[in-house]
Amino acid sequence: MRAVSELQALQDERKKVDPEKAEAIEQFLVKLRSLGSGEADFTFILDDASGNSFIENPNAPSSDPLLSLRFYERTYEQQAALGFLAEPTKESGDSSQDASTVEGNSGGLQRIPHGSVGAVAGRRAIAQGNSDEITAALYRYSAPEEVDTLPSTCAACATECVTRFFSTKIPYFREVIVMATSCDACGYRNSELKPGGEIPAKGKKTTLIVRNVKDLSRDVIKSDSAAVSVPELELELSSGTLGGIVTTVEGLIVKICEALERVHGFQLGDSTYEWKKKKWDGFTERLAKLLNLEEPWTLILDDALAASFIAPATDSLEDDKQLTIEEYERSWEQNEELGLNDMDTSSADMAYNTTSTS
Ligand SMILES: [Zn+2]
Repeated sequence: MRAVSELQALQDERKKVDPEKAEAIEQFLVKLRSLGSGEADFTFILDDASGNSFIENPNAPSSDPLLSLRFYERTYEQQAALGFLAEPTKESGDSSQDASTVEGNSGGLQRIPHGSVGAVAGRRAIAQGNSDEITAALYRYSAPEEVDTLPSTCAACATECVTRFFSTKIPYFREVIVMATSCDACGYRNSELKPGGEIPAKGKKTTLIVRNVKDLSRDVIKSDSAAVSVPELELELSSGTLGGIVTTVEGLIVKICEALERVHGFQLGDSTYEWKKKKWDGFTERLAKLLNLEEPWTLILDDALAASFIAPATDSLEDDKQLTIEEYERSWEQNEELGLNDMDTSSADMAYNTTSTS
């Protein structure tokens, strides 16, 4: 509507100088007004390379059926425009320079050839954190005999330090590589969980019925590609939100709710509709009930890359009646979103050969 009034402001002037253009703009204004008054459906696209834009979800904490969210890797130009590169002039500056030398100079940004995007999505760290939580949690599943070290530099103070890494197989999960860096000089700690082996051919949906305190303290790995939902709370968190975290069932729910409150909190000021306030009060109340275990509830982790995990309470998964793991074929759209359709690898070919009979 602001665009309408700004365009409208100069219409009289325009009619005198350029009547043809004024007429075209008049038509456009009619259309714009009908959209603004909600008379016609339209698609609103917000493309923000900085990732700082936000469209309110009126259904929060449930997901919004009308809203779709896509994350993408920033291009070199976008990184430069945002000031993320030390010397942004290198690429765009001198056009007379030979293209191949520009390529060689691009330095900071790793150039990724088209077609390997899926490999990046699949190989991205499953989870990372700045504490010992990850390593501590993983030592519970295996005592690695071989811990290798790599010299590295501290991300906080740039002092030389070591990164310890080991590979471990989590039962009923997959092989992961744990990389932990700690700095003696400043105390900075960072742990990262990277997927080992091939990108799983199928997605995985893990469902846990939470009944007791033990369930609340089960270990959880929620990867960046996992969607989280709690039907009893009408809570749905789409994939790509919150990043990857290693935590417990309780920790995950608390973290999600804190993040939701941060995002939606600003709407709860004086100007907020009464029903919205009520909805959030109700949500917090129900959340407290779940965490107090007043009634059983369900935690669902749906991960298209099968990189998420809820710890079984028993040695054998079959004995754990509260935990169900279902594997499923990814849809073409999911593969497309993950960039796996363009991928030219034998593992993908194998997956296709085994699934298609035509
Ligand atoms: Zn340091």
